[in-house]
Amino acid sequence: MIRKIGIVGSGQMGSGIAQVCATGGYDLVLYDVSAEQLEKAKKVISGGLGRLVAKGKLDEAAKTAALARIVTSTELASLADVDLVIEAATENEAVKRKIFTSVCTVVKKDAILATNTSSISVTRLAAATDRPEKFMGMHFMNPAPVMQLVELIRGIATDEPTFKSVRELTVKLGKTPANAEDFPAFIVNRILLPMINEAIYTLYEGVGSVESIDTAMRLGANHPMGPLQLADFIGLDICLSVMQVLYEGLADSKYRPCPLLVKYVEAGWLGRKSERGFYDYRGETPIPTR
Ligand code: NAD
Repeated sequence: MIRKIGIVGSGQMGSGIAQVCATGGYDLVLYDVSAEQLEKAKKVISGGLGRLVAKGKLDEAAKTAALARIVTSTELASLADVDLVIEAATENEAVKRKIFTSVCTVVKKDAILATNTSSISVTRLAAATDRPEKFMGMHFMNPAPVMQLVELIRGIATDEPTFKSVRELTVKLGKTPANAEDFPAFIVNRILLPMINEAIYTLYEGVGSVESIDTAMRLGANHPMGPLQLADFIGLDICLSVMQVLYEGLADSKYRPCPLLVKYVEAGWLGRKSERGFYDYRGETPIPTR
């Protein structure tokens, strides 16, 4: 039975997941190596809950109660009594392996461990723990409080009770689970990123301009955002790294990252976060860069 949750990493995803768990009624410990990041996360969560109150989706008392359920800590030992750890630290395999190895020394023997990784093999991370059968992927989408889906990924050793517990929790948090096997990029990114990469090839080969490609997919395929606009939103460095994971992990040339994507990343044109990508965001309205 999952009652108390530990979240490792309080960045963009960790703070969003903490907000979701706290509004879902769970006590939680938000752990990070950086005290500064934890301070920032508290503000982000409070701001997120405040927006829900402003929209009438949450009352003031529920906001106060949710915030009271969150304890922040830079001490690993604070995870000693949690039933589930959701790891949402930096996307780096060495960092995550080290986290899981040390988490195992402080948590209860029967605590479940989950990772929010977007691309690292769940089975490989499970091997860094003393309990691969109690380990799985729990992949929230960004932003976690808004997006409905959570991908649930079994490692090769994940046992049924672990999978069932995390699935039940996902539903209790008001999310919809989709089960995925442990293959590179799971389901959403496996399908979405090659589509974006293809849009960049379409631009690279001169089939259409940035504007015509995005207009075509918005109005012709009913996508809420054009693929190049979406790429800028995700971050072009992230898009490239997912394509590299697919290309290397599946050894198939159909996942070859478009050279134009590589060039934008090399230029430091990473999309919205650097104010320039397929669009230039430095003015009033975004202007296509090609
Ligand atoms: P982020 O950089 O915003 O946050 C990472 C946090 O981890 C930072 O606060 C950092 O201080 C902390 N951290 C680093 N080393 C640590 C350690 N040893 N112990 C504890 N905390 C540590 O990253 P993010 O965007 O929130 O991504 C986190 C995870 O979620 C990654 O695995 C990423 O692939 C995954 N993810 C990201 C997105 C996204 O769109 N950003 C979507 C889904 C999943």
